[in-house]
Amino acid sequence: MGAYFQNIKDGFTTAFEGMSISFATMFVRKETVQYPEVDISSNATIAEKYKGSLMGMPENYRGILDVDLSLCTACQICQKACPIDCIVIDNIKCDKTKLSDGDGSPVLNRFTQKEALKTRTVTRFDINAAKCMYCGLCEKACPTSAIRHTNQFEMNRESQEELILRFVSDDVKATAEKRASEIEAEAAAKKAAKAKKAQEEKAKEKGAEE
Ligand code: SF4
Ligand code: SF4
Repeated sequence: MGAYFQNIKDGFTTAFEGMSISFATMFVRKETVQYPEVDISSNATIAEKYKGSLMGMPENYRGILDVDLSLCTACQICQKACPIDCIVIDNIKCDKTKLSDGDGSPVLNRFTQKEALKTRTVTRFDINAAKCMYCGLCEKACPTSAIRHTNQFEMNRESQEELILRFVSDDVKATAEKRASEIEAEAAAKKAAKAKKAQEEKAKEKGAEE
């Protein structure tokens, strides 16, 4: 009989405890962000239209990938680092250049601390955002920090095809291919001139001996 009344008492107590928590929240100021009207991608953007204490996406959030082609050496390390083959890169020869950032200072290879050198350029750099699991391995592997996660997370598209991010336009590809064939032709001409010179010197030496 004692247990029966104890159960009734416990029922009332727990119901009261639960209701007291619900009741207390009625007097707490609500924190709501009117998403998507408010851009929550960073603390700076969220503060433009929202004055509460909630914060935007954290700095180290691994969102949709972006590639800065001016820093990319077409080394394909990110492609190899991706465990599920989201990245597809094609590359060709280009003029040898040292990478420099906006203010002209050299870009260093993160792993060797030597100046990053570009001898090839990309003619295709696709990332399948539908397949990507946002693990960050490609970003970690990139020696020049050309590929990086942004804090963007919105990507509504009507088809999977549209979820493939293509960083190289047809125009850029055509220009790169044109320059690559010029480089090939220049190299072939140089090689032929060298061979001709060597042949002439050989003939001269032979003539002198006779
Ligand atoms: S974040 Fe991970 S899954 Fe996505 S492309 Fe990079 S390595 Fe591949
Ligand atoms: S690892 Fe970096 S530099 Fe190399 S291809 Fe990828 S984005 Fe470009």
